[in-house]
Amino acid sequence: MAESKARKTAAGTGAAKPRKAESHLAMVRRARKINRALAELYPYAHPELDFENPFQLLVATVLSAQTTDLRVNQTTPALFARYPEPADLAAANPAELEEIIRPTGFFRNKAKSLIGLSIALRDEFGGEVPRTLEQMVTLPGVGRKTANVVLGNVFGVPGITVDTHFGRLARRFGWTAEEDPVAVEAAVAEIFPKSEWTMLSHRVVFHGRRICHARKPACGACPIAPLCPSYGEGETDPEKAAKLLKYELGGQPGQRLRPPADYPGTPAAPGALSGTATTATVEG
Ligand code: SF4
Repeated sequence: MAESKARKTAAGTGAAKPRKAESHLAMVRRARKINRALAELYPYAHPELDFENPFQLLVATVLSAQTTDLRVNQTTPALFARYPEPADLAAANPAELEEIIRPTGFFRNKAKSLIGLSIALRDEFGGEVPRTLEQMVTLPGVGRKTANVVLGNVFGVPGITVDTHFGRLARRFGWTAEEDPVAVEAAVAEIFPKSEWTMLSHRVVFHGRRICHARKPACGACPIAPLCPSYGEGETDPEKAAKLLKYELGGQPGQRLRPPADYPGTPAAPGALSGTATTATVEG
């Protein structure tokens, strides 16, 4: 397709394809193509936090702020062994809890949030994690992002999870210019049907972690480059870009210690993406 040809030419010269005015309809169509391409690239996209029940996912998501999911996954086994239920965590000794979660950073604030939300779960929700966004965000330390993670992944309530990766990629993809996560969520919700929201969130976050990094996106190894107006923000040389890939695409393990059975699925095969030309081969 003409777009792919233009991209290949851009890749060949190392120059970014000039942006051109795009109608809202064209943007929506392109956005949905990106979602389909990401679905092919990451058929196994899933939450990268280990959890066995809604309470564990809620706690793990609170702990995941400003750290990696792997770090959280290394910390939660001891935490859940010591405090298996909300009532246990509600009665925790703060100093002891802080010591357990210290590796995740910001441990004093996180300990406060965990004890606070556990008290609320115990006293106001019968020890159960509530199932609505409105109720979830009343819990200490729980914002829309955390609420959507839990609602989407354990209760099947569609939600868009705007974390740092999702916000950055939504802007790079030209889906929105908004910086505020709530505004990004609203803009993206207009583009995609509800049924796609939860998996779209996983796919975009997977792409942000593996290829479209904050400081140096691996544009030259990015299978969706033909659909991305920000191609050229990062490394366009295919060989150099391939070295920037992370997790299973870069030949390293993913973040889950107790992953789902199909993890990490079939490593990305960009050349196999139907209808999406590539500028480079992703190895690893
Ligand atoms: S890596 Fe580059 S081409 Fe790929 S999505 Fe990010 S900015 Fe766009």
